[in-house]
Amino acid sequence: MASAPGEDNQRSAKRVAVVGAGVSGLAAAYKLKSNGVNVMVFEADERAGGKLRSISKDGLIWDEGANTMTESEMEVKGLLDDLGIREKQQFPISQYKRYVVRNGVPFLIPTNPIALITSNFLSAQSKFQIILEPFLWKKSDSAKVSAEDAKESVGGFFQRHFGREVVDFLIDPFVAGTSAADPESLVMRHSFPELWNLEKRYGSVIAGAIKSKFSARKEKSAEAKGSSEKKHRQRGSFSFLGGMQTLTDALCKALGKDEVCLKSKVLSLSYSHDGKSALENWSLSSSNQDKQSQGLSFDAVIMTASLCNVKEMKITKGGNLFPLDFLPEVIYMPLSVFITAFKKENVGKPLQGFGVLVPSKEQQNGLKTLGTLFSSMMFPDRAPKDLFLYTTFVGGSRNKELAKASTDELKQIVTSDLRQLLGVEGEPTFVNHFFWSKAFPLYGRDYDSVLEAIEKMEKNLPGFFYAGNHKGGLSVGKSIASGCKAAELVISYLENSSDDKMLKEGSSK
Ligand SMILES: Cc1cc2nc3c(=O)[nH]c(=O)nc-3n(C[C@H](O)[C@H](O)[C@H](O)COP(=O)(O)OP(=O)(O)OC[C@H]3O[C@@H](n4cnc5c(N)ncnc54)[C@H](O)[C@@H]3O)c2cc1C
Repeated sequence: MASAPGEDNQRSAKRVAVVGAGVSGLAAAYKLKSNGVNVMVFEADERAGGKLRSISKDGLIWDEGANTMTESEMEVKGLLDDLGIREKQQFPISQYKRYVVRNGVPFLIPTNPIALITSNFLSAQSKFQIILEPFLWKKSDSAKVSAEDAKESVGGFFQRHFGREVVDFLIDPFVAGTSAADPESLVMRHSFPELWNLEKRYGSVIAGAIKSKFSARKEKSAEAKGSSEKKHRQRGSFSFLGGMQTLTDALCKALGKDEVCLKSKVLSLSYSHDGKSALENWSLSSSNQDKQSQGLSFDAVIMTASLCNVKEMKITKGGNLFPLDFLPEVIYMPLSVFITAFKKENVGKPLQGFGVLVPSKEQQNGLKTLGTLFSSMMFPDRAPKDLFLYTTFVGGSRNKELAKASTDELKQIVTSDLRQLLGVEGEPTFVNHFFWSKAFPLYGRDYDSVLEAIEKMEKNLPGFFYAGNHKGGLSVGKSIASGCKAAELVISYLENSSDDKMLKEGSSK
């Protein structure tokens, strides 16, 4: 990551504005700073972290946004190592014990295909379809992807390969738990690009997964021999001591107080090119008038605010308004996160493990929540010894109205579901409610237009780069990767636009 000598001085004169102090913006800023670039992060909220939001109160620690993350992306590994935050990583106890409700009761999900076939989680017909899948799906001869194909829903894709029961009891609860959406609204190509590509490459998803896992393992064992990489990658999901916000707090600390401007909602951005230099062309105004950042000029901008927030900004180019009417309306999933604590003696059937997901079909058995994480089972230090702490999600595309319900109403709903699933008795000793009106952008049928609009902004505004969970994946890991990639693009943009280079190019014309 270190810069070549001499390059640092050249870069240190460069300054980049990052809009949004969520994990993608902070990761981008950190990467720029590590490469000798001056950064200033503008955050509308009074706190940094965005959708990483950890609270500690009355001996309880909980997350109101993301609860865990994975290290599947290379950029995450690099970031955790560079930040020196490895000793704070916290791996859940029994994390592979995850439950899905069937017929009103939690059922331990089999963790591998053999266990799935031998368990009675699925009907004989579905098991048969899974066994036959590698033989029924062959690679298509045509390399062409039809428009219809490119917009196939997640539900449609998995139903073709594995049947309806798999969609209803495995895919539906999984997508509700990871994006608050439903299989019919999500587009496969954007939501699960890896699996979509496997089908294009191998025909069968199962055969493709086995083949690619085998070759990836070969590559990794050669690369990771003796390093900690293999160990960390194999350990699945994790959080940090104190919750997920520990990560964004560490990023803020590494950046420094003066580089993260809180309560600074970016209102307008202006690009003016004087014809001499490609640099120092950006200026911005924010709601925080007293900050020294006002009046500064920037060489580039990384935007990580949601597209609905970008739409509210005023952007000008060369003194003229750059209209943002081409930005599509993004659909967002509303979600309530409901925290409860119960005395251990009042939980009749406590389950060891990560959590339980509720398929939409189980609404017919009276269940209204999307799922519950067994927070203190995963991380025992998050509650006093005599309490169980739970994190329950309500709403999403399944029940948008319920997401907005009052704390009292949600307390009844959550307690009723936990009574049925875990045998809780009486009232919780503690509750906390956090409502996200726009928890997740939907990677739906119109998602192509979102990507096209982002591309159009980047193409028409020199030095403007977009990152975050509207582009390339919803997870924390994918958001970090998106921020780091944007930082890399900025670094090469700055190098290519340096005054020296411009002058040389100018004189050779
Ligand atoms: C309830 C919930 C649970 C989740 N659980 C998980 C999980 O367990 N695992 C996982 O991997 N992912 C999870 N996610 C998804 C993941 O947390 C997010 O996708 C990711 O954190 C998004 O990061 P980001 O930086 O792209 O966006 P954000 O975190 O949304 O950051 C964008 C920032 O921009 C700021 N901003 C907006 N407008 C302006 C403006 N005009 N000026 C300045 N700043 C502005 C916002 O205030 C915000 O801080 C969850 C999300 C939610 C909501």
